[in-house]
Amino acid sequence: MKLIVDRERCIGAGMCVLTAPEAFDQDDADGRVIPLDATPSPEWEAAVREAVQMCPSGAITLAD
Ligand code: SF4
Repeated sequence: MKLIVDRERCIGAGMCVLTAPEAFDQDDADGRVIPLDATPSPEWEAAVREAVQMCPSGAITLAD
């Protein structure tokens, strides 16, 4: 599983950080997402997939 984040699309809603805090953080300066690991461990796959669904801007995608 590879995580692809488009920071230009991110609106800083923070749903990804709440849903999968091991995989995402938010930039203190602009509130946009910071991916912590481009290849999250399998134990976080369900949370990361949920974060993809919950992101209101479609800024997160996964490549299997
Ligand atoms: S949920 Fe989407 S819009 Fe919100 S911070 Fe994460 S990537 Fe950005």
